[in-house]
Amino acid sequence: MKKNRGTSKALNMNGHRKKESILFIVSGPSGVGKSTLCDYLEKEVASLKFSVSTTTRPIRGSEVDGWDYIFTDEEQFKKLIDQDEFLEWAIVHDHYYGTQKKIVDTLIEEGVDAIVDIDVQGGLSIKKNDPSAVLIFIAPPKLSDLEQRLDNRGTDNSKTIKTRLENARIEMQSIKSYDYLIVNDSLEESKELIKSIITTERYKVHRTDPEFIQEILNKFKAAADLKL
Ligand code: 5GP
Repeated sequence: MKKNRGTSKALNMNGHRKKESILFIVSGPSGVGKSTLCDYLEKEVASLKFSVSTTTRPIRGSEVDGWDYIFTDEEQFKKLIDQDEFLEWAIVHDHYYGTQKKIVDTLIEEGVDAIVDIDVQGGLSIKKNDPSAVLIFIAPPKLSDLEQRLDNRGTDNSKTIKTRLENARIEMQSIKSYDYLIVNDSLEESKELIKSIITTERYKVHRTDPEFIQEILNKFKAAADLKL
């Protein structure tokens, strides 16, 4: 179960102001460590919140409805599709998964950055409509590591593991369409890397509040009047 969801740390951007919220999309094969990295970011990075997806897959282990996912049935999911409630949705490993617009919109209205853990179909579909979204791909060092991790997790039967490994091979083909790639060899290094990607994006000039840039420029206008 994910604990401490939210922003406990104060955001210190050294006076820097962003223009708008950023949508970070984390994708990669099942079992690669995406949830661990997203949990870490939520705890460690200020003003960043996880957008909870909706799924028809059965609840597993210690998962909590409304926290890890919004668990629903196929009928309800299809109703949400018809009502155009999804930013994106996809069938992954034989189940429906989707990002509800209202959940992301709420985070954006709060002024925080949003992070979603979604498959490559969803990631590429969001990026097509919103080129400012940041795509981060988490890859395993090798396929056998993934098999080992899915097996150790103990939450899936061997048929499900096989489907997930087959899908992993397909998902890896989308790496080239992503903005960032992290090979999750060492979890500690991956945590640092993903955190620095978030920081880097936040300080990009094209994401900076134009008024903030103008304030800086104004200070330099005043400097031109100095007599020394
Ligand atoms: P799991 O069943 O292991 O929690 O997730 C299976 C896959 O579904 C993962 O690759 C995860 O990234 C993806 N997924 C989770 N939520 C969404 C979503 O809202 N949309 C899409 N397209 N994929 C999702």
